Amino acid sequence: MSEMTRKEQKKENCWAIEDLYATDGDWEKDYSQLAGQMKNFESYKGKLGNSGETLLAAFQEMDLLKCNMEKLYVYANQRYHEDTGNHKYQELSARASRLEMELGHELSFFEPEIMEISVDRLESFYESVPELTKYKRKIQECLRMKPHILSKEMEEILAQTQEMGNAPQNIFSMFQNADLTFGRIVVDGKEMELTQGNFVRILENKDRNVRKQAFTQVYAKYKEFQNTLAAAYSGNLAKDMFYAKVRKYPSCLDMELSRGNIPREVYTRLIEAVHRKLPAMYDYVEMRKKLLGVDQIHMYDVYVPIVDKVEKEIPFEEAKEIVKEGLAILGEDYVELLEQGFSQRWIDIYENKGKRGGAYSWGAYGTHPYVLLNYQGNLNHVFTLAHEMGHALHSYYSDHAQPYTYAGYFIFVAEVASTCNEALLIHHMLKNAQDDKEKAYLLNYFLDQFKGTVYRQTMFAEFEMLAHEKAEKGEGITAQLLEDIYYELNKKYFGDGMVSDPEIAMEWARIPHFYTPFYVYQYATGFSAAIAISNKIINGEPGIVEAYKKFLSGGSSMDCIDLLKICGVDMTSTEPVENALQVFEERLAEFKEIMERNM
Ligand SMILES: [Zn+2]
Repeated sequence: MSEMTRKEQKKENCWAIEDLYATDGDWEKDYSQLAGQMKNFESYKGKLGNSGETLLAAFQEMDLLKCNMEKLYVYANQRYHEDTGNHKYQELSARASRLEMELGHELSFFEPEIMEISVDRLESFYESVPELTKYKRKIQECLRMKPHILSKEMEEILAQTQEMGNAPQNIFSMFQNADLTFGRIVVDGKEMELTQGNFVRILENKDRNVRKQAFTQVYAKYKEFQNTLAAAYSGNLAKDMFYAKVRKYPSCLDMELSRGNIPREVYTRLIEAVHRKLPAMYDYVEMRKKLLGVDQIHMYDVYVPIVDKVEKEIPFEEAKEIVKEGLAILGEDYVELLEQGFSQRWIDIYENKGKRGGAYSWGAYGTHPYVLLNYQGNLNHVFTLAHEMGHALHSYYSDHAQPYTYAGYFIFVAEVASTCNEALLIHHMLKNAQDDKEKAYLLNYFLDQFKGTVYRQTMFAEFEMLAHEKAEKGEGITAQLLEDIYYELNKKYFGDGMVSDPEIAMEWARIPHFYTPFYVYQYATGFSAAIAISNKIINGEPGIVEAYKKFLSGGSSMDCIDLLKICGVDMTSTEPVENALQVFEERLAEFKEIMERNM
């Protein structure tokens, strides 16, 4: 934890927050103005179908409101993140959230009313008001949902079920975060509380007994409450089935995928492709076993580092140069934008007391993107910089090419630009690595990401699919059933070379993401798509850099699947995932060779 206060930070190391609002007073002015404008929007209620002119005016007004809201929200929260202990900005952020909720309420009549307008009538609107065609995709997206929208009265009742529907997730989250304790443990000679927060870190401990102890202790605790946890998850499955049924979807999976118009094959092909490449994972397990020098490898040996840290200190000035060189392959214009971001203070670089942890890229339409870092000068943080600048430039390209309506991008493609940057940087750094130690470190970093993103998230995705299928078939969801599904998957994904300790069957109960159904697969697909694209770039495929920038500029102006097709990546086939995992195999072979040479 840094002892430096926010005030002590040098201006050149802080993001140019003034580019959003020069003063808090300006924010207040906009806030009052928006609160007033919002109320006026009601005048469109019941009139959207009157004429093309009215519909266009309403769309434009709505964009304006949302765009202003975004700016208010982002400023208040970025200010808050600079020092979360600052009461003034705590309040500003809370006010922004309230106003955003009110805005949502004011706009809630909009989509149902559009669904009421007949297709013929809409066609005549486009003819008489050509400018309205800008919103055609928005309107079509709305109409796509129409078969799943119920009568007004039914929708009102459904809206009132939301809090009940959130109960399973709330119960789980309260249980896990507030009630569940794991007792005490001795780590490196010090006795401490074993917590959710330090569990994975303790699994990285060099002392195998410590790892085993933590592993046993945590899962024994989950096992103790297995029936409660299964009941909570079963409640969540029941909620999904309820909404899928009343909204007339064939299954829960179909309902979740329909939000982004993602074909079902994308989900199933991902699982198929990963299954086909499981031998590479088995190979990895074998190598880990050898490097750890153990006769048997257990589930508590999965996180302990197998390569030494590269203790090189990398000042931020150098990190910027490394990232620029690594991404030079994307062309001068890309590097110029990176430079612009570095020199015009898009980035909040160092930590200070109260600053939000981690890293992110964020921003508001109409202003440049921002990046929050807590830069510590190690190699991992250089990758974080490349990753977040990937997000930032994705936003920059989309914001400049698209109107507000289509500038934002979906989660499905969100991690493509960031991962692609990391892959390009790794490739560049491997080429220039000084010695085997550095190479091993880089390769291991890359392999870890593959393991955690493609293999692990796909296993999660398969678990969710199987659990939902069982529930949809009317099977009783018991603790035993969930444990069996999870245990079998774990065995399948790690192979016979791994001792699948019985405790691991309870891991499903520890994953908060399972309460956001069919979400995690996107980490695996996004990562795979990024690797596929970065490979094309590295191999110098003609036209790929231009195509990639078209993708970056696409925002949400097309379906995610079509956006990726611009780069020749078809996620409805197994090819991109298999190609990505082939990169895993190749990198693994390189890694093995280096490690064996130095053993
Ligand atoms: Zn990211």
